[in-house]
Amino acid sequence: MSRDEFSIIQRFFGALGAPRKHTRLAVGDDAAVLEVPAGRQLVVSTDTVICGVHFLPDTSAADIAWKALAVNLSDMAAMAAQPAWFLLSINLPEQNDTWLREFSMALDQVAKRHHLELIGGDTCRGELSITMQIMGTVPTDKYVTRAGAKPGDMILVSGELGNAAQGLKYLQGRKAAPEALREQCIDALLRPQPRLELRPFLRDYASAAIDVSDGLQADLAHILNASNCGACLQADKLPVNSNIAAEEALEFALRGGDDYEICCCVDSHFEAEVELWNQQNPDCQLSRIGEVTPSGYSLESGGSLIDLSSLPGGYRHFD
Ligand code: ADP
Ligand code: MG
Repeated sequence: MSRDEFSIIQRFFGALGAPRKHTRLAVGDDAAVLEVPAGRQLVVSTDTVICGVHFLPDTSAADIAWKALAVNLSDMAAMAAQPAWFLLSINLPEQNDTWLREFSMALDQVAKRHHLELIGGDTCRGELSITMQIMGTVPTDKYVTRAGAKPGDMILVSGELGNAAQGLKYLQGRKAAPEALREQCIDALLRPQPRLELRPFLRDYASAAIDVSDGLQADLAHILNASNCGACLQADKLPVNSNIAAEEALEFALRGGDDYEICCCVDSHFEAEVELWNQQNPDCQLSRIGEVTPSGYSLESGGSLIDLSSLPGGYRHFD
């Protein structure tokens, strides 16, 4: 490791986030050492954000930090896991202290908010990209997977769909918009809010869950494939901000990326529990958008049935 690299790590990533009780060794040695509390399991995931793919080249360092951590936190939320630690592998085109300061301060803020500790990583020169590995824990066997949905389950989704797609359209200069919505949508794109508050709900009631990163249509399909089921969705139940143009609402809701909402399946016996959740959580409303079926994948819209299984789905990196 060069002196420059060492000083970057020390100055910007040496002690970041909230120290955790079960960390034995963090940044500075060849590896970190962690303890998994008795009665809990470790849940691990990784996600990369690349300049030009996951964020536009003029995105601020603070927004990049926010998004890189938020997309990883969103995976923890989908598993109903309590996030605890993360590793940061960063490729930097140059040593720019102003950029690094802004990046690490924003990262520290988001990490502290979620009681998350940075325990290590890697620092290289290269095109700007950030890979994080996040680690969390669940009470033994209380994780939620994509595989447990069954016919008759309600299909629920949190928050609103399509705002990030709308935000991207604004940023790319293709759309003029009312100021309020502009802020809401650009925030949704740049600063997604991982739905960690849903963890207890998912743990207690969800048969399957996924975070919606590539568009609802594609991500729900992952649940259906893993669970060996089908689904029927209701177009008029999809939660889309009323300021999004009607002719774009369906496209953005089904195939717009970067929502980072949670889609889950819940046994219909828990209807009252969903209602109670909605009463108690005005900022994280769960919309009932359809039902799990034995097979097929369709959308009911204005009296007609659209076959979703034959339509192209969400974002694919290798198309
Ligand atoms: P090694 O040469 O043994 O791989 P490194 O030089 O890559 O070690 O890293 C030295 C220490 O700094 C390690 O503890 C590593 O986890 C940590 N580290 C390196 N880069 C980062 C980073 N971007 N954020 C947090 N910790 C980092
Ligand atoms: Mg290394």
